[in-house]
Amino acid sequence: MLKECDILIVGAATTGIYFSWLMAKKGHSVLVIDKEEREQVGQRLEVIHLDKETFKELNVPPPTEEPELIGSWKGIWVSRLPWFFQRMYKILESDGVQFEFSCKFKELMFENDRIVGAKVEKENNEHEVLARLVVDASGVACAVRSSLPDNYGVETWTYDSTNRFFVILHYIKWLKPDEPHPVSGNTWPYYFVFFDPGYMGEKLENAIMGIIGPESFEKTEAIMEEFLESSIIAPFELKKKEYCSFPLTLPPYSLVADGFFCAGDSAATMNPIAARGIPETWHLCKNTEDIFDAALKSGEYLSRERLWEVNVKHFRGEGAELASVYMLSSFLHVFKEKELNFLFQKIMPILDPPNAEEEATEIKLSAGKILKVIGKILGGLFTGKLSIKRIFKVIKISRYAGKLKKHYINYPEIPEGLEKWIERTKEITELRKVQPRIFKTTSATYP
Ligand SMILES: Cc1cc2nc3c(=O)[nH]c(=O)nc-3n(C[C@H](O)[C@H](O)[C@H](O)COP(=O)(O)OP(=O)(O)OC[C@H]3O[C@@H](n4cnc5c(N)ncnc54)[C@H](O)[C@@H]3O)c2cc1C
Repeated sequence: MLKECDILIVGAATTGIYFSWLMAKKGHSVLVIDKEEREQVGQRLEVIHLDKETFKELNVPPPTEEPELIGSWKGIWVSRLPWFFQRMYKILESDGVQFEFSCKFKELMFENDRIVGAKVEKENNEHEVLARLVVDASGVACAVRSSLPDNYGVETWTYDSTNRFFVILHYIKWLKPDEPHPVSGNTWPYYFVFFDPGYMGEKLENAIMGIIGPESFEKTEAIMEEFLESSIIAPFELKKKEYCSFPLTLPPYSLVADGFFCAGDSAATMNPIAARGIPETWHLCKNTEDIFDAALKSGEYLSRERLWEVNVKHFRGEGAELASVYMLSSFLHVFKEKELNFLFQKIMPILDPPNAEEEATEIKLSAGKILKVIGKILGGLFTGKLSIKRIFKVIKISRYAGKLKKHYINYPEIPEGLEKWIERTKEITELRKVQPRIFKTTSATYP
């Protein structure tokens, strides 16, 4: 194992591999560790959707064959993450990235109160790795960030029942594929039960039946059971289940500190409405690679001040968009169940038509679509399916989202301005104040 390197990255999943690759290609020595065995990384979440544009734009070689490639759907590659990792590890190794698997981050090492590396454990032996930059890419474990000393400059919060969604994925096989069953993306506002067509196979015999729920896996599981009891779903066989979660919170107010950087799920740099984090985090890494490169090449210690530009670049750009998406996510809790049903059945097909050929990762609204949406909303108001009170609430939330975005665009140029900026951020996010809601009944119809 390397005892000294420029960058030590904890986590060999999507965040760790992409950042390590960028840095190795710039000539820096990079060690990536993961607590899992090499073949096991990514097993917790098998199927992933990534837009083709991201692969092209960021020069990541896309999946080309089975078993990694499952299919192509509306401008999106549907692939198997564990196979993607195995393919990428080989490419990265040939570009100089070093990996240690079954190797766990234990604690940070300090000199004069500044990070100089980390202690890691492999096969019951502890090793010291000296590094100029330690990166937390450990996902929702937040292994490194949560071990920072208080007042080191990055918050040390971890994920609990309040700041993430719990996801249970059921990989199913339809027992009577000739009977009516979902054949495209379907979502019910029943704490987001959804059917994902990305795994259906040639004969449309498979699907992922997922649920995104609040508070805990137990609660989410109970909601799923209730949904299945109250809905008529074609008979299926359960092949396997996956349990995972994704962040529903703003990132820490700074992503960097002395000798430290965090990104990916460990830092909530994702889009919580789309449940999508990989392109967002890859963009963050790509947009800031030159800052890290220049800091490393300067030969100086990578101080918080030296790396501050990473925050400025991210939070004034894509980070500002993501902060407003976080604020908008409270829409989901504003509407009553019958209104959400109405919105999903009438509005979603306009925003995201199930069989559209076009790219579906961003909702693009043409004038025609906007008119159609307005027409449906007016229809909903007229027939009592939507309440004017809640439409006003949504307009209010959009205003707060706009306010938060503007505030992020004014992210402080230097660390000294951060305290005041955080105070104002808290004032704006306090306006969000919407309680998560659990729906009791729902209706399920599908094309
Ligand atoms: C159900 C679901 C579906 C999703 N679908 C999509 C999608 O289709 N497209 C998309 O873009 N995003 C999707 N996301 C979000 C996406 O999966 C995450 O944003 C992304 O995987 C985060 O990657 P990461 O590398 O930051 O963390 P992770 O993928 O969680 O990886 C962290 C790694 O760190 C390792 N680790 C943890 N602790 C330690 C330690 N102490 N020492 C050493 N190693 C450690 C872990 O073993 C793991 O390999 C989805 C999320 C969920 C829950």
